[in-house]
Amino acid sequence: MRVDLHIHSALSPCASDDMTPHNIVNMAKICGLEMISVCDHNTLGQQRVMAEVARKLDMGYVYGVEVQSIEEVHLCIYFQDYSRAMVFDAWLKEHLPLIRNDVRYFGNQWLFDEADEVVAGEDVLLLQSVNQSMENIIRKAHQCQGIVSLAHVCDKANSIMTQLGFIPRHLEFDLIEVKNQVQKEMVQQLHPWLKEVLWIRNSDAHYLQDIDHFEEDIDIRMWKALWRDANDG
Ligand SMILES: [Zn+2]
Ligand SMILES: [Zn+2]
Repeated sequence: MRVDLHIHSALSPCASDDMTPHNIVNMAKICGLEMISVCDHNTLGQQRVMAEVARKLDMGYVYGVEVQSIEEVHLCIYFQDYSRAMVFDAWLKEHLPLIRNDVRYFGNQWLFDEADEVVAGEDVLLLQSVNQSMENIIRKAHQCQGIVSLAHVCDKANSIMTQLGFIPRHLEFDLIEVKNQVQKEMVQQLHPWLKEVLWIRNSDAHYLQDIDHFEEDIDIRMWKALWRDANDG
């Protein structure tokens, strides 16, 4: 199955204003994708509408969010159950410092309805760290039956390899996001214990033209096993 599970909507201040629900889903269809996830920074505010538009246009959808930990590491977290995703969203809100977004500096944080109309702007700056450690974020995500990905694991900004220099063995993440095979081999070489982990390639698109056009499929057997574990746990 071809997926792109890390796309930003215009609710993320750093994403283009034309990242509307319909534009995202239609571009994903052009790219031949079967399932997507929009992971905005530190909020699941756009998720209900995203899932609704995806359903209407016959695109698979998994609820998502990209959380920035106090260590400034980005984690993408996925949910299958909307009410549990909203419990996690409420927890995030409690732990996001109340700093106002400066639109001129960071960009718009727009919320859309099912018709791609702007219904509101989020006032609190979303592009900052929540005041919680990676461990706490992962624990809370698992309590809400979410699964956790180490986002863009080797990027120069906000990746675990840049912020910490390594992946701690005790960290209970579920999958790892890489940009390419070279990154995967590099991380594997440094962490030989990382055997049975799901590696995933996502676009982290902030612009429509960046949405995934990779040819490879996700390992669907491992993807399903992660959810079985999440629902058991
Ligand atoms: Zn990121
Ligand atoms: Zn991102």
